[in-house]
Amino acid sequence: MGEQLNHECAVAALYWLDKPVGRSGAASRGVRDGNVTPLMPGILLDLQNRGQLAAGISSYDPRRAQVLDTYKAVGTVSEAFGMSNPSGYAAVLREYAGRAAIGHTRYATCGADDARYAQPFERHHGRLWKWFCFAFNGQLANFAQLRDRLLAKQHYHFTLNTDTEMVMHALAYRLRGEKPTDLVGVMGSVARDFDGAYNLVFLDGMGRMVVARDPQGFRPLCYATEGRLFAAASESVALTNLGFKRVTDIAPGEMAIVERGRLRLERFARPRRHAHCFFEWIYFSNVASTIAESSVYMARSAAGRRLAERETVPADASSIVVPVPDTAKASADAFAYAMGIPSVEGLIRNRYVGRTFIEPDATRAGRAQSKYTPLPAVLGGKRVFLVEDSIVRATTLATLVGLIRRRGRAKEIHVRVACPPIIAPCFYGIDMSTLGELFARKHVPRGYAGVPTEAVMAKMARALGIDSLRYLSVADLGPSLKMDGRSLCTGCVTGRYPTAAGERLLRRARRRGKQGGGGRTYE
Ligand code: SF4
Repeated sequence: MGEQLNHECAVAALYWLDKPVGRSGAASRGVRDGNVTPLMPGILLDLQNRGQLAAGISSYDPRRAQVLDTYKAVGTVSEAFGMSNPSGYAAVLREYAGRAAIGHTRYATCGADDARYAQPFERHHGRLWKWFCFAFNGQLANFAQLRDRLLAKQHYHFTLNTDTEMVMHALAYRLRGEKPTDLVGVMGSVARDFDGAYNLVFLDGMGRMVVARDPQGFRPLCYATEGRLFAAASESVALTNLGFKRVTDIAPGEMAIVERGRLRLERFARPRRHAHCFFEWIYFSNVASTIAESSVYMARSAAGRRLAERETVPADASSIVVPVPDTAKASADAFAYAMGIPSVEGLIRNRYVGRTFIEPDATRAGRAQSKYTPLPAVLGGKRVFLVEDSIVRATTLATLVGLIRRRGRAKEIHVRVACPPIIAPCFYGIDMSTLGELFARKHVPRGYAGVPTEAVMAKMARALGIDSLRYLSVADLGPSLKMDGRSLCTGCVTGRYPTAAGERLLRRARRRGKQGGGGRTYE
């Protein structure tokens, strides 16, 4: 997606278990003296697509005075860990060595962009089971209600504007008492309160670890074992790159738990309808990852093929397919192959233009101008099928269309989108949370049910200054992803959300829209 949407974070966990749980292999042989910390920065680098704002690690070593200790800083993983300074980086790895560790990369959908919001969060306590650190990936749709409830009834005080602090209080409250609390019960209890997406990695001062996925499975989470090494990560690519041969999803509502150095899996919440975020396949996840046994690359290819099957504009000798770099490439190549026309790089992306976090639209458009260069030698006089993975605000796409038309001198531009029209915000951790900023929403009629008419698409095409526009249909999502469509969250493309708080937030967003208010609905 040219305009770069952002995601709330990635989590990872590592444990050197007391006994082997299988044969050792490439991943476990990388561990020296039971110290897993040196593996963590590499895992976080592989998860960097999910957040570049801050990174951190907490490790457990019972021989240290600081049984748990946390290192975190703002920036990309390499910036946060100071990788360009080898001796400084080695010192961080030495200081935070441990037999267990959790890690996090952050992008903010709420809260400020400073170090206080970086994760893991650590809560010190004199009693070891109440001293814990944790990291969180997702977004609680009922965050504001939970926060208000705590503030009103139990005299809590919040220092930050983020659901992570709320999660910390919720965990700390359930760890109270005179004896170490049962962690399966703790997760079961928070699951009754939390509404939304939450993948948690947790480590306490007794060396107990939890890696838990919310009962609806919005975000991916997987694990692998080899010899004495247990590892978990938001995306499978981080584990396969470490050398694991077999990576398994943590099922929604399930947790991996390590106690007394032993690993087991437990269910902490009753099964609910799954709501895997389809956007993970379409855009967010690394193209080399597999989610729910469905390859992200193959899903993007299948979406491109489906678009080609439904194509009505004929391919002629002047036709070419151009992917919007970089995430649309798999869809574009498959679309082109099915259409029998070449897929070519007519738009070159300058990778050295800085990272784009939250930017006003004016800046986005300006940045797109300098980020992409159209090639007239490729585009001149051509019927261009421009394949995009999704359209959210359309600011960047409008700029690209202008570049392709004016500087590239294309004859025609037909935009094909490997995702249905996005007509509603996300309340589960994807940063597109205001109704007013969504391009498609401005064009679909009241009562829109997920299938845009020809007239609506023609209107959108005119607004973008292109010859035609086609989207993947909502019905084609499931088959493209090789998933049962009923197990997907499609809130942002249907306006129907899989949780009560999501439905409530949409109603509130609509009310605010009518009153001329903006802003993110959950704040
Ligand atoms: S609303 Fe859209 S982006 Fe958000 S979790 Fe659901 S499918 Fe994903």
